[in-house]
Amino acid sequence: MRKIFHFDSADAPYIADAAVLCCFDYRISTAVRKFLKKQNIERSDMIVVAGGAKTLASPRNDFEQDFILEQVRMSIRLHQSKRVLVMSHSDCATYGGLAYFKGDRAAEAAHHRAELLRAAELVSANFAGVSVEPYFVKFDGVWEIKAEKG
Ligand SMILES: [Zn+2]
Repeated sequence: MRKIFHFDSADAPYIADAAVLCCFDYRISTAVRKFLKKQNIERSDMIVVAGGAKTLASPRNDFEQDFILEQVRMSIRLHQSKRVLVMSHSDCATYGGLAYFKGDRAAEAAHHRAELLRAAELVSANFAGVSVEPYFVKFDGVWEIKAEKG
């Protein structure tokens, strides 16, 4: 092989601050990155797939859900992740976008809230001893989902 790019990466042993499941939609990537930093998550195992938390809450097939759970499992086992962030976002194409909710942002948020809680529950049921945190990313920022309300 032949080196075509030079860059020095940190090669110290790696312990992840969190495993982060989110959508690959580029529009939310900067918000997610800045939010993680604000959460003191400097180093994360990023599980970036179409739909993010949807792959756990409403998977297209069993393979998808198992594959993502396996990714989380490996982050916990190999990189000692103690936090698992599950995220979805507004106008996500895997849900048919905001158009699916006829432009009703409240209806969209309510739907995502239920999805995120289901995804978080699944992660909690599979992995004891990790903090599972569901978040909804909108175009104005990141919204925390609580099990009780909001
Ligand atoms: Zn998306």
